[in-house]
Amino acid sequence: MKLTLPPRISPQQFDSALQSFASVVGKDWVMSSDADRDAYSDVYAPGSTDQWPAAAAVAPANVDEVRAIVRLANEHKTPLWPVARGKNLGYGAAAPRMAGSVVLDLGRMNKILELDPKLAYTVVEPGVGFFDLHDEIARQNAALWMSVPGNGWGSVLGNALEHGIGYTPYGLHARNLCGLEVVLPEGDLLRTGMGAMANNPAWHLFPMNYGPTWDLAFSQSNLGIVTKAGVWLQPAPETSLSLTWDIPNEEDIAWVIDTVAPLKIAGLIDQNVFIPSWLGKIVVLGQRKDFWDKPSAMPEWRVKELLKEHKLGYWRVEIRLYGDEAVNKAKAEVIKSAFKRHLDAAPFESWWRQGDPKPPMDLAMGTPTAVPLQMSDWVGGRGAHMGFSPVVPATSEHVMGQLKRSRKIIGDHDVDFYASFTIGGRFANNVNMLMYDRDNATQVDNIKHLFNALIDDTAKAGYGEYRTHLGWMDRVMDTFNYNDNALRRFDERIKDALDPNGIIAPGKQGVWPAAYRGQKKEGAQ
Ligand code: ADP
Repeated sequence: MKLTLPPRISPQQFDSALQSFASVVGKDWVMSSDADRDAYSDVYAPGSTDQWPAAAAVAPANVDEVRAIVRLANEHKTPLWPVARGKNLGYGAAAPRMAGSVVLDLGRMNKILELDPKLAYTVVEPGVGFFDLHDEIARQNAALWMSVPGNGWGSVLGNALEHGIGYTPYGLHARNLCGLEVVLPEGDLLRTGMGAMANNPAWHLFPMNYGPTWDLAFSQSNLGIVTKAGVWLQPAPETSLSLTWDIPNEEDIAWVIDTVAPLKIAGLIDQNVFIPSWLGKIVVLGQRKDFWDKPSAMPEWRVKELLKEHKLGYWRVEIRLYGDEAVNKAKAEVIKSAFKRHLDAAPFESWWRQGDPKPPMDLAMGTPTAVPLQMSDWVGGRGAHMGFSPVVPATSEHVMGQLKRSRKIIGDHDVDFYASFTIGGRFANNVNMLMYDRDNATQVDNIKHLFNALIDDTAKAGYGEYRTHLGWMDRVMDTFNYNDNALRRFDERIKDALDPNGIIAPGKQGVWPAAYRGQKKEGAQ
């Protein structure tokens, strides 16, 4: 990828910024060749990666180097885009929102600083991946389980900071964060929560501050660079029981939601319950051409045939219980009789007991895997995916409304329909996976139009997305329009106060610092 400079920076000024970075990290850790820029591009970009080009990347080894780089970035007016492992696939990967930003790659800071089985937490640096933590827990034989997202390639912190979701009782990953260390935009160093007092041992245990609580202000945020954080983990349960039902019809999702959500809200079900539609099972079995050889979206009759052939329901619900065996048995009876009111079939049941090996691929048991990424190969070519992910109240009325609305828009664009709902409590998170071949211009164009239509129509109905790809960050922020977009106005005032040069992640989530507000339309889809 060719060099795109940051706004208002000459090639000479940019060179001297990179030289100053090299004086901190060593020249091997400043990466600015065409191949380096490719390595930090959006490998799933809908269309060309040139829409969100990084100018270079710099990889500090510790917090002092991060602070030094941030100070130099201010001096040289060179914006930074922090990433942990940069595997935010479907949302932009390592690529920056604003063209010409320098990726601040925190992957070298990959220490697990604490792992406490008694109080069930860890303290990690941003470069610690899910697989790293999983291995360390196994190495120490610690009685702890993690919560992992569908794609376990990334980092524990990057995913939590980006509001990633998993399928265990600890599945709202940002909620597990407790006590952050943050480099602020002008280079100062802040510790949140009890960590605001030097050497306070409750730093990663008490989730609030004395005074306003700031931890989540650094998630999906451009107010600072998180250099370490406490993350709560699940104590390994004595047993775990999973109950799986194949749910025959599309409209059955209505009773499923009205059955599961109250049990979740009441605390009888602890985990985030993931309910994928049939395509979630098929995408890992092969490419679409193995199941449907026309370019048009798969029709209803073929879907029905496939469900029969593969003995699948339209939806699959797996509820997993954790803890004491007798308690799990009792909970299972309550859940089974609630399902029995709507469905005759008994669930498939499977017990795990301490000492048993964990199945290699069970997300609800916190085992990291990258197998779900297989879905990117569905359309063939240089396959990729994006997720359209609105949040709706966890009732049948809202869920059915959302399902019908997105299904119609996706059908109108002649794209295969792959929805899932995750019941995380009082809300359901509706992820609609859209797969495309990056080299097929017609397909990419269609997906972009579809994405715009989904955002606009869903917002018209009153719902918003929880996370989005770089190209739509502004459009989604626009939909949070209460009182003349009071939220964005507030975010921007804070941004300008903390980051007068607009150095950290300009445009992240649609929040632009004054210095770069003019760049807003670039790269927007
Ligand atoms: P992963 O490590 O899972 O691959 P990324 O590194 O792609 O995740 O991070 C996802 C997003 O979260 C980034 O684009 C960035 O906006 C934000 N982020 C990640 N790490 C940090 C951090 N240490 N401080 C601030 N923001 C971060």
